[in-house]
Amino acid sequence: MKTEYDIIVVGAGPAGSLAAKFAAEQGVSVLMLEKDRDVGYPVRCGEAVSMAGLKEFIEPDPKWIATEITKFSFISPDKTKIEVEFEGKGCILERKIFDYELANIAAKVGTDILTRAYVNGIISENGKTAGVKFEYRGEQKEVKSKIVIAADGVESRVGRWAGLKTHSDFRAMESGIQITASNINVDQNTCYFYWGNIYAPQGYLWVFPKGNGLANIGLAITGDIGKKRSALSYLNEFMETHYPNASLLSQVAGGIPFTPTLEKIVAPGIMLVGDAARQINPLSGGGIISGMIGGSIAGKVAGEAIINDALDSIFTYEKKWHDRLGKRHEMFNRIKNGIYNLTDEKYNNIAHDLKKIPKNKITLGQIAKTAVVNKPSLLLDVAKTFF
Ligand SMILES: Cc1cc2nc3c(=O)[nH]c(=O)nc-3n(C[C@H](O)[C@H](O)[C@H](O)COP(=O)(O)OP(=O)(O)OC[C@H]3O[C@@H](n4cnc5c(N)ncnc54)[C@H](O)[C@@H]3O)c2cc1C
Repeated sequence: MKTEYDIIVVGAGPAGSLAAKFAAEQGVSVLMLEKDRDVGYPVRCGEAVSMAGLKEFIEPDPKWIATEITKFSFISPDKTKIEVEFEGKGCILERKIFDYELANIAAKVGTDILTRAYVNGIISENGKTAGVKFEYRGEQKEVKSKIVIAADGVESRVGRWAGLKTHSDFRAMESGIQITASNINVDQNTCYFYWGNIYAPQGYLWVFPKGNGLANIGLAITGDIGKKRSALSYLNEFMETHYPNASLLSQVAGGIPFTPTLEKIVAPGIMLVGDAARQINPLSGGGIISGMIGGSIAGKVAGEAIINDALDSIFTYEKKWHDRLGKRHEMFNRIKNGIYNLTDEKYNNIAHDLKKIPKNKITLGQIAKTAVVNKPSLLLDVAKTFF
């Protein structure tokens, strides 16, 4: 390990590995630090992604794809089921292997990676972030850098240490809980979404198949709701009523920031990516692909800033992110606020209206339109998503 790098990336999740890869392939020196013993473990994720999103960065490989997804099924509180063919196709990942592969790709283009390297502070010089302090194999270390990229996930502290406002509104921070269970008899190519207050108020519940009778089953609810009744108790009730014979293989919990991007994601010497920047899709809670996109933009901008000896140019990252996804996330956030406050009766009405449309003609666009008819104030935002 050198005592100084051009760029240090904190956190080896999808956002961190993509940032490291896009920076290192330009020939600058990059160090990526991961606090856990293993990259990609523990897995706190439903592991669902779109194929198109993946293909922008990596060729899909059966070794990290648990199952391919060709259909969505939406289930309303009165159990009306709406099925939609998912033309673009998606998949359920084996994230542990997938995250390993992304870190491997970053390493292949020259990134140095350390695991069990817990970043516990930053080095500041003249009001600018100039490196990190971390514990590695029982020893406290310091490494300097021109740029630090904070990819340290939803509980990110690096950005806060650098003076960025990373606090998210408690009401928009969802508590996610998920189990991986066996003996789940569902179609292996369908993702199931349960909407309504009986399943997950101000959120939703998912059943994502993982092949061989396994499934990730989880839900997310807002902090406000969680104060009254825990996410775990909603999940337990669902399992007892829907899959009483399931065996639980693992259980994880974690925060999901169903919020738009933080107001500022760059400060002198530091850039935030992925969950640390709140680059998650605030409507779906999906953050793997959007974190990879944020990481790739940040890594490219950071590498160019080093090569051109123009460190101030890292501020262009903010606009590039907003032009690519950030602005769409703001709109998704407004749609979410409308949809999540629907009553169970409205959810049922939407499902009944959709049932009247022939099965082979239902699209995601039609679902949005039908939701709008039941809640006209959503009209403008939904319309914008299609143009
Ligand atoms: C229950 C649940 C289900 C989800 N389901 C989905 C889904 O189906 N699809 C989807 O797209 N998204 C899903 N998400 C969201 C998705 O998991 C995240 O958006 C995604 O992992 C973000 O990637 P990231 O690289 O920003 O952060 P992470 O993947 O969280 O990676 C951050 C890394 O930083 C490391 N780190 C943290 N602090 C330090 C430190 N101080 N020093 C060194 N290293 C540090 C962590 O150990 C971790 O490896 C889900 C989230 C939850 C909680």
